[in-house]
Amino acid sequence: MSQIASDAANVVIDRTARYPEAPPSPTEEYSDATAKRANRTSTNSVETTRVALGRTLQLHRFSTPMEKGVPLERALEIANQISMERKPESLPLDQATGRILFDDLRSRVDDPRFDNSAMDGWAVREADCQEKGAVLRIVGTSQAGSAGAPLVGEGEACSIMTGAPIPEGADAIVMVEDSTVHDGSVTINGPARPGFIRMRGENLTQGERPLKSGNILTPSAISLAATMGHDTVSVVRQPSIAVIGVGDELTPPGEPLSENSIYESNTFGISSLVMKMGGIPRRSDLIRDSIDDLREALDEAAESCDAIITSGGVSMGQWDIVRQIMEQEGDIRFWRIMMRPGGPPLFGSWKGKPLFGLPGNPVSSHVVFTVLVAPWMSNSMGSGGAQGSSLANRVRVTMKEPLKGAPEKLCMRRISIKQEGDKLVASTSTHQGSGNIHSMVAHNGLSLLPPDTSCEKGDTIDALWLF
Ligand code: AMP
Ligand code: MG
Repeated sequence: MSQIASDAANVVIDRTARYPEAPPSPTEEYSDATAKRANRTSTNSVETTRVALGRTLQLHRFSTPMEKGVPLERALEIANQISMERKPESLPLDQATGRILFDDLRSRVDDPRFDNSAMDGWAVREADCQEKGAVLRIVGTSQAGSAGAPLVGEGEACSIMTGAPIPEGADAIVMVEDSTVHDGSVTINGPARPGFIRMRGENLTQGERPLKSGNILTPSAISLAATMGHDTVSVVRQPSIAVIGVGDELTPPGEPLSENSIYESNTFGISSLVMKMGGIPRRSDLIRDSIDDLREALDEAAESCDAIITSGGVSMGQWDIVRQIMEQEGDIRFWRIMMRPGGPPLFGSWKGKPLFGLPGNPVSSHVVFTVLVAPWMSNSMGSGGAQGSSLANRVRVTMKEPLKGAPEKLCMRRISIKQEGDKLVASTSTHQGSGNIHSMVAHNGLSLLPPDTSCEKGDTIDALWLF
């Protein structure tokens, strides 16, 4: 992947939100609509400056910096510059599974709270049990949850249960399996172990913060929060994310199809991905290829949601209206990523809310979400890094067949990953087209072939193992 990072130096940085040198031909409808908003964008002249390493810097006054054709790492870096507002919400612990902690969580107690036994057996003085067969006088019982265990003196033993407090005087435990009881005394047949005493605070001390802001509340983290005395927790409020599908050809599943229309799938898939990442999707009605309808939907989404995801309309075509409206009226930060599938996405903001314009091809939208939107959501919700939520694990796989890469682009082919012996192996099946969503279901991983790299059967490559 080092090759991908180094590609950053060759990126053409375009500091204009327009494309003055080669504007896409706007639709009539679009020209009318934009004519009415004469002041919204600048059409000032463009200055082009040659800088080192052959990079072209285009400066456009009043416009926002926008980069074109960026490597994935750079796309993520740019996206991470615009976050959603992170807000807290208090939840009962038993409703907090999978949520992200807003603040560090302090322990209200020592854990263990007191010295206690790790075994059912006998609390004894280690010195009394040096020889096998020692006989000790039974002085009472220490039970979990009850107080008043007797003092253990020389030559004495106290019956003890797992988790019960260690009686004063005792310094070791003999397992019940290593003892024989008879007439008020016990014969010790095995070792007396100080290590069977769980010492106060050996796991955690009061005030310690083992759960940090941004940690996901996994089942064991929920258990730990309870151990520390918390019945409610402050978690990151789930961001609400508008999901807007754009395209004249789209019909919601379940409705009658007209000629040349297709069932719309992306808003369902993207919403599902948003949910998996801990957000609340707000799927709006499908938008026709109409700038005015799209503007209305974006305005509404910016009012009511924390971020916006659109599907479709971000390529070079005349009807790619998401790209057009973002160029003309939005704040666009990058367009196009050097990856396949999923090359055409854009990112920026609309009325101050982060906006991802995902490609319409179903595989592309899933892949871009997985490698760009998901890590951005994690970062934005404060759960980035190893403890954060994600849709995939990065692994090394040995290919069972050759895999063709892509010129200048990170190539993410669908692969099936499985354990074989002591290594992970991968293979492909089904047609790999970016319109074939079945390929995402039939496989469970994505290759991470660096730009201009193909691999042979038996080569080991980086891959994403999808959850
Ligand atoms: P576009 O990005 O709008 O040029 O669309 C690229 C391809 O994806 C076209 O074949 C569209 O019909 C298809 N497509 C666009 N949006 C969706 C959607 N929401 N669900 C399913 N397919 C779509
Ligand atoms: Mg379209």
